[in-house]
Amino acid sequence: MWRSILLGASLGLLSSAEIRAQHPEPPRLLDDIRFLSDDGLKGRMTGSPGADSAAAYLARRFSQVGLQPAAGGWFQSFTVGREGSAGRQGQGSVVGMNVIGILPGRDPVLRNQTVVLGAHYDHLGLGGFGSLDPDSTGKVHNGADDNASGAAALIQVAARLAATPPARTVVFIAFSGEELGLLGSAYYVKQPIYPLSSTLAMVNLDMVGRLRNGRLIVYGARTAKEFPALLDSLNWYAGFDLKAQGDGYGPSDHSSFYAVKRPVLHLFTDLHEDYHRSTDDWQKLNYDGLKRVADFSLGLVTALANRTRPLTFLDLPTPTATKATSPGPDSPGYGAYLGTVPDMTGSPGGVRLVGVRAGSPAEKAGLRGDDIITRIGRSETPDLQAMSDALRSHKPGEIVEIVVRRGASVTTLRATLGERGG
Ligand SMILES: [Zn+2]
Repeated sequence: MWRSILLGASLGLLSSAEIRAQHPEPPRLLDDIRFLSDDGLKGRMTGSPGADSAAAYLARRFSQVGLQPAAGGWFQSFTVGREGSAGRQGQGSVVGMNVIGILPGRDPVLRNQTVVLGAHYDHLGLGGFGSLDPDSTGKVHNGADDNASGAAALIQVAARLAATPPARTVVFIAFSGEELGLLGSAYYVKQPIYPLSSTLAMVNLDMVGRLRNGRLIVYGARTAKEFPALLDSLNWYAGFDLKAQGDGYGPSDHSSFYAVKRPVLHLFTDLHEDYHRSTDDWQKLNYDGLKRVADFSLGLVTALANRTRPLTFLDLPTPTATKATSPGPDSPGYGAYLGTVPDMTGSPGGVRLVGVRAGSPAEKAGLRGDDIITRIGRSETPDLQAMSDALRSHKPGEIVEIVVRRGASVTTLRATLGERGG
């Protein structure tokens, strides 16, 4: 259901039916996973023929789904020294390749800014270094979840976004060298194809194929002020048991972007018993779950690439985990509480709601999804900031008039504002 909102009329985009009509070839999620995690690629160790085959396959798939090669081509190569650091080519060094495709933005100004969606495609080869299973040296480590799942989701998102390009340019990067120490992403931020200063955010998909009990972990939720509310808004439709964690550092490629002060998010369906073992095979993936994560990623990238304002990077140490539901513009803990779930992708002329929380003052007042709030009390609410300020200017227990645009009509509702949540 959320898809119709994100790609809907408010953004001037096409419906999913129109997208399907324009894009007859369905994204082949299972085929992509099976190709990338096939024994024939021998575990996709950086610099190996198997990794090169994977890179060629990814460039071909990027092209098929409608991406263009990055300035400089599909491949960005870097050398990996014997010590496992990216450096000069020399004895014993190998060449790793990032695969980069772009979807140019449709806005003549915003297209000069980018959103990066990344997923590494390299894995552990035949075990040994990096494997958690000492007896498996010599056995192919297929890395179906780590990270054929993310690479396949990358293609899925690219295919669907290509039908309706957002305002900003989206840069899709399949990184190599991740398992050797985030080498491909470290190289990219040193030699960015598109300036980091105009890179709005980086979203990383690493290990997204084992969704269990609907639990999706998102790291980096506190690296931009706007992220918690955005995640909350998107999850209203996606319905994950979303565990948003603050920190932007973590053992995957988003760390490289966080280190250069870009807002980052890492989507992750958690560790499992096959992690970094030869048993991480395609048969064990949750394909419905992977599709849901890809849908969520599509919504996330669409919202980021279409938002009119920049993000506010947060460089603060955040020792405690935070729930995505806490610091929204209308959340418990921030002045008087109304209980709306605003559409974080923005809407002209007011704050559009995607829904209201059960039992909340908003629900009791008769507010509902698709309402556009244009006024609270005496304050106009052209955007979320104004709505947040309006709520902060009232106390719990106060009765306020809320002016709402609902379809063609304008309605005034009365809400008794709630207490700060516990
Ligand atoms: Zn790994």
